[in-house]
Amino acid sequence: MNLRDTLSQHFRLNETQKKGLTKLGLNTIQDLLYYFPARYSDSSDLKLIQDLHNGDIATIYVKVSGLKIKKSFRTKIPMAEAVAKDESGSIKITWFNQAFIAKILKEGQHVSLTGKISENKNGQLTMNNPEVDKNSYASSEVHHTLFSKHEIIEEEIRFPIYRETRGVTSKWIFHAIQKILSTGILEGVQDHIPEDIIKKYKLPTLQTALVWIHIPKRIKDAEASRKRFAFEEVFFIQLSKAQEKKNNGSKDSYQISITQKQVNAFVERLGFSLTKAQERAVSAILADIAKPHPMSRLLEGDVGSGKTAIAASIANAVVTNRPFDKEKGKPQNFGNLQVAMMAPTEILATQHFESFVKLFKGTPIQIGLLTGTGAKKFPAKVGSDPWTNISKAQLLKWVKNGEVSILIGTHALIYKSVSFKDLALAIVDEQHRFGTKQRGKLSQKENFAPHFLSMTATPIPRTLALTIYGDLDLTLLDELPPGRKRVITELVAPDARDKTYDFIKKEMLEGRQLYVICPRINEPDPDKENVLQMKSVQAESKRLKKEIFPDKKIDVLHSKMTPKEKEKTMERFAKHEIDILVATSVVEVGVNVPNATMIIIEGAERFGLAQLHQLRGRVVRSSHQAHCFVFTDTNSAKSLERLKALQTAKNGFELSELDLQLRGSGDLAGVKQWGVTDLGMEAIKNIKMVEAARTEAQNIIEKNLLKNYTVLQKEFEARDRKIHFE
Ligand code: ADP
Ligand code: MG
Repeated sequence: MNLRDTLSQHFRLNETQKKGLTKLGLNTIQDLLYYFPARYSDSSDLKLIQDLHNGDIATIYVKVSGLKIKKSFRTKIPMAEAVAKDESGSIKITWFNQAFIAKILKEGQHVSLTGKISENKNGQLTMNNPEVDKNSYASSEVHHTLFSKHEIIEEEIRFPIYRETRGVTSKWIFHAIQKILSTGILEGVQDHIPEDIIKKYKLPTLQTALVWIHIPKRIKDAEASRKRFAFEEVFFIQLSKAQEKKNNGSKDSYQISITQKQVNAFVERLGFSLTKAQERAVSAILADIAKPHPMSRLLEGDVGSGKTAIAASIANAVVTNRPFDKEKGKPQNFGNLQVAMMAPTEILATQHFESFVKLFKGTPIQIGLLTGTGAKKFPAKVGSDPWTNISKAQLLKWVKNGEVSILIGTHALIYKSVSFKDLALAIVDEQHRFGTKQRGKLSQKENFAPHFLSMTATPIPRTLALTIYGDLDLTLLDELPPGRKRVITELVAPDARDKTYDFIKKEMLEGRQLYVICPRINEPDPDKENVLQMKSVQAESKRLKKEIFPDKKIDVLHSKMTPKEKEKTMERFAKHEIDILVATSVVEVGVNVPNATMIIIEGAERFGLAQLHQLRGRVVRSSHQAHCFVFTDTNSAKSLERLKALQTAKNGFELSELDLQLRGSGDLAGVKQWGVTDLGMEAIKNIKMVEAARTEAQNIIEKNLLKNYTVLQKEFEARDRKIHFE
């Protein structure tokens, strides 16, 4: 048996199994060895129904039946009900305001439920709003035998539980891995992490860790190997980012000297002065662009913290600078440097263009907008509008000859047809995956690259930022401009809903608009998740129309819609052709509808705090007082405590740190797009581990030591290739 052998060479597989394995991305022996348990059975909170007591938090392995959707008697809130049975008894389960659960589950399905036990008026025990895990049941056989043998529990033997799919059970994976390991396949395996690092951080070696992670004798061993693989993942990301940083940093760039005064003069024109945080950001940027190599900086700040204002004032300073004449050793006395600014969607690009037009009014600076559908230019030669529609060809000509000095747009900016005369600075907004390749397309020249400023309002913990943005220097805008009205955030219990709806109706009479966000649905299959979300959005919009807001124009927004449809709907909402927009969390994508001053978030306990904060960010842009209504049915004190942080935390970063500590990485917005696995995310919780991985990786790259570690170098190249082919 060889690591590169396919599984079908050594296991007899039927068609369903083959499909399932492919779906899990498991083709070779090595793939399977690197398929780590999602968790280990934990006997401490696992209970039989007959042993449950009021107040327990427990996990039960059950068969569900009697699924139905009801409306609660008083508040008319839809809820799902079921009966759960194991061999010892049965218990009633209720999910308040999560009627969709009844649709996710099937009659007779085996699941594990984790939640709090309470007693109703008749003295019956119930479990309310439990977490449902459809995947862990398969090992219940293991659990129950385990459970009845107390002496085994005391020895802390735990069984690995693997993520399953149709045709491939956790048990099958467990046995297959045991078979593979018993062949002695690990004997020839060389560790790719350098020995000095293994020793320094007391990590198990690759051989040991591969055994321990699948067949731990003690839970401590499993933890040590998980730590090793988590470290390993972050270490490889850090290596790759350090390499990128080195490559970018060795290129040439325009050396631009701008004084803080020049920047301030522009800001004064806008009628305000920079916050302390903005000042820090500006001076970091000015120091960067004065160097002969490209800046690589990330500006992270909540919506409204003044990122666009910084971008505009830096852009202004850059484009009023002359290109440098290398032969004469001083700036030319003609021409000007150029700035490109890229946004993820057409609406956002257009919004940036519009803000820039306002900020640059009265200056001679020419600004272009280039999107998939057309082109615009500011200032207009004739007419009363500040800008005119022009042909793309015309705009591209003016960009190429340098007349248009600021070009704003979507991905259209990195098409081959776009070329700049003297592009000195590229600003990129909310593009988490704008990597080296895209940067290369912007610069269009060998060994030369424009300065690069990335901006994001996505609040993520510092450890995660240091990892996924390891190639960038970080600046945090942790302060809002003064005098900003805070969004009034209220936690609304089920019996206070009517009062809230009444309040909203009054505000709507004043002409305000409302977002309603439906609960997050956790479903491993993203496609299914989207379908369920769509259904729940449609159901809620119908309910609101029928029962609460019969005379309002209500429409929906969800991920099953095409980008075009979403943009259309957002436009109609922005024009107030829609009063209430019922949506999934897709509205996160930062569109600005100033008249929408209210947001309801249903099932708020199902969201991460940072995500709730981002959703709330949809209503901060108004001059009217904004309101965020956090609807929750949870009676868990812990959940309520967590949600209260929305009222006290200073900013999104604080909330993202709380998310990570309280509930783990699954609660961080956009986790999937960052390409860090769940295991890698375990490292993200641990600042020491992230710093260690970062220090070691930087040391190796900066001192050019990679060639001394042949096993590491080979593995690094293989992984990097895989990342870049994705
Ligand atoms: P972001 O891009 O981070 O969401 P913006 O730059 O668009 O934030 O700023 C939000 C609003 O605050 C804009 O109307 C902007 O003009 C204003 N603003 C930005 N910086 C300041 C400041 N230092 N003082 C007062 N208002 C500011
Ligand atoms: Mg902005």
